[in-house]
Amino acid sequence: MPEISLPTEIQFVKGVGPRRAEALAMVGIRTVADLLYYLPRRYLDRSVITPIGALRSETAVTVIGKVMGKGILKGKRQRLEVMLGDGTGYIALIWFSGIRFLEKYFSKGEIYAATGAVSYFQQLQMVHPEMERMEDDDSELIHAGRIVPVYPATSELKETGLTGRVMRRLVKQTLELCSERLPEPLPRALVQEHGLAPFDRAIRSIHFPESAGDIETARRRLAFDELLELQYLILRMRKKIRSAGKMEKYQPPGNLLGRFVKQLPFQLTEDQNKAINVIVADIQKERPMHRLLQGDVGCGKTVVALAASVFAAENGYQAAFMAPTELLAEQHYRNWAEFLNRLGIKAGLLTGSLPGAEKKEAHRAVASGEAQIVFGTHALLSEPVKFSRLSLVIIDEQHRFGVMQRGNLVGKGRHPDTLVMSATPIPRTLALTLYGDLDLTTIRSMPPGRKPTRTVWRNATARPEIYKFLKEQLKTGRQIFFIYPLVEKSEKVDLQAAEEEYERLKKDIFPEFRLGLVHGRIKREQREKAIADFRSGRLQVLVATTVIEVGIDIPSASIMVIEHAERFGLSQLHQLRGRVGRGTEAGLVIAIATPPISDMAKERLELFRSSSDGFEIAEADLRLRGPGEFFGTRQHGLPELRIANLSKDDDLLPITRHIVTELLSDKGLDSERQNLLGYLMKKASLKKYNLQTG
Ligand code: ADP
Ligand code: MG
Repeated sequence: MPEISLPTEIQFVKGVGPRRAEALAMVGIRTVADLLYYLPRRYLDRSVITPIGALRSETAVTVIGKVMGKGILKGKRQRLEVMLGDGTGYIALIWFSGIRFLEKYFSKGEIYAATGAVSYFQQLQMVHPEMERMEDDDSELIHAGRIVPVYPATSELKETGLTGRVMRRLVKQTLELCSERLPEPLPRALVQEHGLAPFDRAIRSIHFPESAGDIETARRRLAFDELLELQYLILRMRKKIRSAGKMEKYQPPGNLLGRFVKQLPFQLTEDQNKAINVIVADIQKERPMHRLLQGDVGCGKTVVALAASVFAAENGYQAAFMAPTELLAEQHYRNWAEFLNRLGIKAGLLTGSLPGAEKKEAHRAVASGEAQIVFGTHALLSEPVKFSRLSLVIIDEQHRFGVMQRGNLVGKGRHPDTLVMSATPIPRTLALTLYGDLDLTTIRSMPPGRKPTRTVWRNATARPEIYKFLKEQLKTGRQIFFIYPLVEKSEKVDLQAAEEEYERLKKDIFPEFRLGLVHGRIKREQREKAIADFRSGRLQVLVATTVIEVGIDIPSASIMVIEHAERFGLSQLHQLRGRVGRGTEAGLVIAIATPPISDMAKERLELFRSSSDGFEIAEADLRLRGPGEFFGTRQHGLPELRIANLSKDDDLLPITRHIVTELLSDKGLDSERQNLLGYLMKKASLKKYNLQTG
């Protein structure tokens, strides 16, 4: 058997070959090193398995059993039911979506592990559990008291025979063949100082731990490395940004910014004024601004960003105001174009769905510099958009955009000032990490005169009562949002559900009232019309998917019903709530949860009901979900943290930040540190993340 080492291509490892190598490449495994870094998603051992006979409702558990039968059941909602038995009892596994695909995944007589929340509805059941197909000898291993790693599987891997068991064997054999110790990237002193496991031992025991304690020690060490890599990416970007100069020359604010502020229909709050001052001072500096403006939903960030844009325009430059959805870009444009025009500032709108001729005209106005403040979406990122004198980029609702996209956009001008805004406040250590390249401004106070929004949550069985109440409210002239969840994974089903519900509400529940529907798949003109009609009061009920979560501003609507509230995250619920209570009337949010409602969902809803403080909510959300889901990797755009857990490992953030700062400080480094820097550089170059901003 030839020696293999970390850089050996995976296809030359025994048992792999070209076809499997291709499937492995799709999950990022090209070399032996990649394989050793392909970490178990979780582990199965005796301690985590519950006999079905001992299950209690309302707990989250893992069970292992044989498929006794399966079937697609029609009914109010079509569902797939799989009966699992383990000799002590039976449990029904239930799916409402992805049914056809899943149905094929199960074969009678095969053994599976199912993890999820147990509920009781005529029988013991788990809805949408997480599944793992077991091989016979795995379950034997487990019974013999071993810990069995479970690797992330894909259909490509499975198709080439790389099942869970084969992956386990492949990793085991590879570790045995890599008999020399895996090289240690960290300086020895650091390993000791922070009580870390050596790299070699960590890798070996993350795959085949002897005990649960082993897993944690190994995980912690690898988390350390991972956070070092993350800090390196961020701090290198920060360094690059900081060293850039800009060409734009600014005069101190003059008449125009003053007139903008004076003609606003309201007085700015103290926090808003402060934020504007900080930003305007920042823009006048020689180095490009990179600032995060955060503040709870409804605190009035838009007007602060507009003030900055007006300042850019006053100095003869252009500002790009980027929103996460077309709907929101359109709304900003509609709300502000005329107001700005009266000040002699020309606003433009540029979104993907503009009709051809309008789009062409918008491009022209942007390229000629005629459009001074340009509202848009990702379309502003697209190649053909050429600004004549872009100096300020505003990114609204930052949590919806990735760092990478930010990088792309910023690359468009030479080094424009960047202001990103987020309504999801985050704890400081995390802010430092995830937005480590940004300076931070926070708006804490709300505009005066807001009445607190009341929140209740109800079980779906209370619907008749709720409808009765809503009808009375409609009769007194109040307007209502009806929100339905929209999840990417189940988008089609969700959209259909929203449309069906709209029809039902219109025909059966509120026939005497005027209803409208908006979601992301509805044509722009229709969508705009529905929103305009709702704004003007012609429509009394607006049925919407979560497209309205991000920033829709219709002050006259004061009641919001959130359907399937159990499916929303806490921060998302809070964002939604921010849409009401903006006008003269106090807001009311009715969250309707449809069973089965997990304990987690109950806790979320209870927190949602009892707290209206965005910062508190964000912290709780972070605690409940963990940062991975809280931010959603795609959303913050940083490489996914596969190992580190920011709520467990947050103490490592300042430590790793400090180490990397030192590495990048241009001071002389000893050979071990140079070695580490080289290692991080190489790791970063292997990742396809384009975090540069230049
Ligand atoms: P967000 O911070 O969530 O983006 P917006 O900028 O959409 O909030 O502002 C929410 C609402 O508050 C808007 O209707 C806006 O016009 C209004 N608003 C903003 N600042 C003030 C203020 N100082 N006084 C009164 N109303 C304000
Ligand atoms: Mg906003």
